[in-house]
Amino acid sequence: MGLFSFLQKDIAIDLGTANSLVYVKGKGIVVREPSVVAVYRNNTVLAVGQEARRMAGKTPADITIIRPLKDGVIADFDITEKMLRYFISKALDNQGFFRVGPRVLVGIPVGVTEVEKRAVLDAAIHAGAKEASLIEEPMAAAIGAGLPVVEATGSMVVDLGGGTSEVAVISMKGMVATKSVRVGGDEMNEAILTYIRKNYNLMIGERTAEEVKIRIGCAFPFPEVRTHEVSGRDLVTGLPKSITVDSEEIRHSITEPLGVILDAIKACLETTPPELAADIVDRGIMLTGGGALLYGLDRFLSDALGLPVLVAEDPLSCVVMGAGKVLENLDTLRQVLALSKRA
Ligand code: ADP
Ligand code: MG
Repeated sequence: MGLFSFLQKDIAIDLGTANSLVYVKGKGIVVREPSVVAVYRNNTVLAVGQEARRMAGKTPADITIIRPLKDGVIADFDITEKMLRYFISKALDNQGFFRVGPRVLVGIPVGVTEVEKRAVLDAAIHAGAKEASLIEEPMAAAIGAGLPVVEATGSMVVDLGGGTSEVAVISMKGMVATKSVRVGGDEMNEAILTYIRKNYNLMIGERTAEEVKIRIGCAFPFPEVRTHEVSGRDLVTGLPKSITVDSEEIRHSITEPLGVILDAIKACLETTPPELAADIVDRGIMLTGGGALLYGLDRFLSDALGLPVLVAEDPLSCVVMGAGKVLENLDTLRQVLALSKRA
């Protein structure tokens, strides 16, 4: 504890493939932005987060919109570091003159390599952290969703992000079984986009496809079929055009990514020890991440697996809230950390 330790801020970051959130110890969530960077002629950063996302699909040729973590790995180390630096400085905004390098806890997907783990730690330290630690996302998600990770009980969490879906069974602060697939909400958007192009000769943008998913996408039929109007470019005439799609055709269009997620859960259950599997039969599976908000996903999975499935409260915040809880209770939860490094 140094003289200026009261100026020290501990922060937790959910560096998601789609969204990044920052939690400041003692304060709560202070940043919630898309993990998007707008880059000018491939080197200087023009905008990060919300501002960059607004530009997506609308930029001139010399500006590129990058999602540096799109597939759950750090595709672009340099851009990731710049994005991290922006989020850290935004979170610590009012610290001004007396700023002391923060201790930073970052959530990472399971299945990232040692090299990638080191890269995230280095990025946090280059971005100004005095000390950086990692926590695996499903562990953070489970803690954030309020699962009893400390107990000798099997808790299963499925964290459904933009680029990845991660499944884990946790008992006594450790992950006993895990399965991670690089399929998530992005693949659903992609499937919707492809469906509309093939069936209506209409080219739509990724953001439009995501809007369709959020408005009428479902994994289990709505009580009454819903419809939504989408606009794009007619591939035959080349002119702008609008069509109306319904929730049942959208549900069918995302069958494939839903199947991959279902198989990942099954694969994880197959490697779960029987005593813990018995706990999951009793307590069910907890869904976290933005994908958990897809209508009827709980019902779809529950029917397919014959197990209870629950959706976390505020699924988009589980990882950062869990990592924040670890910061607030480091003495009892230190064991859940994956790796640390000092500047
Ligand atoms: P990540 O952790 O990878 O950053 P998030 O947990 O932030 O991902 O979730 C982002 C994903 O959740 C995106 O694919 C987004 O389209 C999806 N999503 C957000 N809200 C909804 C919704 N209401 N219905 C379906 N999908 C949603
Ligand atoms: Mg996430």
